[in-house]
Amino acid sequence: MDVGLIIERTALTLLKMAATRLPEDVKSALQKAYEREDHPIGRLHLRNILENIRLAEENNLPLCQDTGIISFYLRAGSNFRGLGRIEEILCRAVRKSTVEIPLRPNSVDFFTNVNSGDNTGRHIPYLNWEIFDGDYLEITVLLKGGGSENACTLNMMKPSEGIDGLKKFVIESVLKVGGTTCPPTIIGVGVGGGADIAMVLAKKAILKPINEENPNRKIAEMERELYNAVNMTGIGPMGLGGKTTTLAVKIEYAHRHPASYPVAVAFQCWAARRAAARIYSDGRVEYLTHKLE
Ligand code: SF4
Repeated sequence: MDVGLIIERTALTLLKMAATRLPEDVKSALQKAYEREDHPIGRLHLRNILENIRLAEENNLPLCQDTGIISFYLRAGSNFRGLGRIEEILCRAVRKSTVEIPLRPNSVDFFTNVNSGDNTGRHIPYLNWEIFDGDYLEITVLLKGGGSENACTLNMMKPSEGIDGLKKFVIESVLKVGGTTCPPTIIGVGVGGGADIAMVLAKKAILKPINEENPNRKIAEMERELYNAVNMTGIGPMGLGGKTTTLAVKIEYAHRHPASYPVAVAFQCWAARRAAARIYSDGRVEYLTHKLE
């Protein structure tokens, strides 16, 4: 089969998976949070979220009315065939998915406000590339809602503010946005590089599997500390009280200029609509985040 066709079919499957079913790790984290939550309103909201997830799966319908903005994170082996056609193929898959799933058309011209009607537009879907020496292609699709996206923030801090300053900024950011992010969230913290690099890292951090421990012991400790601190704010599910404000805090970092200390915080709402697959050079496709029915 033509590699372009395999990529398009895989992208269509991923878009449908992401829109209608949460990845296994997110579902299980929400279920555990429900079992742990003792605030009556918080518990009720987690139950409603779990029911929402069940109904979307059963009826093959989007988990949320807000399609969000669609991004693809690509890890492409330099020997994988057809790399030059990927952008065109993924845009086609987004257009088809908008009709077939269906998805609410969510992409509007920045200046004129005109909706493209098919979830594509200038730089949308957004493509983030990583090239490595290999022969497979890994595609992760993310449908990111506006509520949590509007809460993303960046602070070009002073290096003298140090790790304590970084933690303070994360907690202050959580307190500032409260329930507008549709909690429980997954919080991505990107530090280092420059302004652009920090935010890209924060976004990549929210794509990490919830149950995957950070290989760096000190960073893993900081993630746990921030997770506990965020859950002590009492914001709770949907911002209506409880001890489940976040399901995970994930940190990604880059080296930095000695005079710069960029810290970016990205929020992902409970509807963490991501799905990933790997396409091998022989045409085999392995789905990484969801069980295929
Ligand atoms: S923030 Fe997430 S859950 Fe809330 S409306 Fe947007 S997509 Fe839906």
